[in-house]
Amino acid sequence: MVDPFLSIHHLRDNIFDTAGIQYPISIRDQMIRGRKLVDRGFENGLINDKDKNLLVVGAGAGGVSAAIRAAVDFKVKTVILEREVDAFVAQAQAFTRYVDPVQYDFPRDGWDAGCFPPLGTPPMPLTYLKGFGNFLVADWRKELNAAIRSANGLLHFSPSHKVTSYNVTSDKKIQATVAPAPITKGQTMQSFLWPLDFGMAINCVGIAAERTNIAKYSGPNFWSRDSITDLHLGTSSSPATAVISGAGDGALQDFIRMATSRDTAKEVYLAIKSADPSFFSTIEMKLYSLDDQCQRAYAIGGEKRHDHPLLDWMHKQTNELADNVLADPALKNAVKQMLRSDLPTIDLIMECDHFDRCYALNRLVALLLIKAIEEKTGQTVITPNHSLSDVQCVAPGSNHFKHRHDVKTNQRSGTCADPNRSSTPNVAKQVDVVIVRHGAYAATTATIQGTPTSTRPLARQTLPYHVND
Ligand SMILES: Cc1cc2nc3c(=O)[nH]c(=O)nc-3n(C[C@H](O)[C@H](O)[C@H](O)COP(=O)(O)OP(=O)(O)OC[C@H]3O[C@@H](n4cnc5c(N)ncnc54)[C@H](O)[C@@H]3O)c2cc1C
Repeated sequence: MVDPFLSIHHLRDNIFDTAGIQYPISIRDQMIRGRKLVDRGFENGLINDKDKNLLVVGAGAGGVSAAIRAAVDFKVKTVILEREVDAFVAQAQAFTRYVDPVQYDFPRDGWDAGCFPPLGTPPMPLTYLKGFGNFLVADWRKELNAAIRSANGLLHFSPSHKVTSYNVTSDKKIQATVAPAPITKGQTMQSFLWPLDFGMAINCVGIAAERTNIAKYSGPNFWSRDSITDLHLGTSSSPATAVISGAGDGALQDFIRMATSRDTAKEVYLAIKSADPSFFSTIEMKLYSLDDQCQRAYAIGGEKRHDHPLLDWMHKQTNELADNVLADPALKNAVKQMLRSDLPTIDLIMECDHFDRCYALNRLVALLLIKAIEEKTGQTVITPNHSLSDVQCVAPGSNHFKHRHDVKTNQRSGTCADPNRSSTPNVAKQVDVVIVRHGAYAATTATIQGTPTSTRPLARQTLPYHVND
């Protein structure tokens, strides 16, 4: 496999994967991967407009981008198989989660434009404008339907088909086997779908289930409707009390929403910056440099022992920048103005003493808010070197995250780089809202010729901001 882009996503034979990626995995990244895999598959003769068809498994933003590109632009017969009843299920219920395709390009130029692809760059199969997740899905479903019509029969979308394995024939054609329901057990696609076999398959099944569970407790999923920006977090307590466990982008996004009741870090940042825009040009240059150094080092790591020194350094450097911002009285005031009037008591529980790999914008805005809350209330926000061990609803029978819960934590020795950290239990405390943002389980990919393929994650990558051709 010579093509570098195909090669880093290659599973086996002509089967490629966007699911086992460690980083980056934003919606926009998956769209770029979907489109580029098709471009390179076409360029390398794996698919064509005659007899080499494309199979896409998973109708998320990545899979649908791949399928539309192939069928509409290259006239390749394409089938999308999706286990759920419709496309884009990940974001369909995200009524309270505001996404923006370019906000985390911060502090690069154009990070506040809010649209993808950016003006002046080639069109993408799906248009991605900033907004709440469920609105995006409504637009994308219309675009998928329009593409199916304009592809004149070349694009076939089959929801309710869960692929369990890929099979490769002796002449290197790929077929797929689907799960029992609603199809008879063991039945293969050949018996009910057109086309029968494929020159290339792209496994776009997403990054697997999110880890929002502790013991029997299950917090809200990232892409679900939540009450974080509601008055008193949607509870009857005033002030409400909350625990957020995690130190990555999911945890920081929710911390920022909870501290400000604003929808995005971008909104908070722009409001603070407006108090003294010229000051921020220096800060943004420094952040750009830090983020670049972090990204380069992160891409060649893979284990906690590689990441810890880097993330620890990033945390300290960004802390210094936040202190510089807050040394300016006008900016400090602007940060304080961002805190909501019904400010809850928030405990951010982190496994180590630094944030995880996260976007520069979330990192800076979270640190500014943490410092402002601590000054205003005298209470510490971050509980470092702790892990959540159990969460139990005070009223038996309900584990909904808006009910009061007893929260148990362990104090951890050493740092996250140490595989043999000890844990010492703390006394349980009661809070109103518990949010667990512990990333996702490793993606499980369907078997290929009976062999499970992807317990080994694909490498961390750096990706372009947009496509150029
Ligand atoms: C906590 C957290 C926070 C995040 N924050 C952001 C953010 O702020 N901004 C952002 O852009 N991204 C964010 N992401 C990442 C984003 O959610 C995903 O990267 C994106 O949804 C992936 O798109 P996709 O098309 O690859 O997969 P998905 O959208 O997950 O789609 C995969 C599809 O495959 C289907 N499928 C799965 N298995 C099978 C099978 N065997 N057969 C058939 N179909 C199957 C699924 O039903 C699903 O429809 C976050 C992720 C997490 C976990």
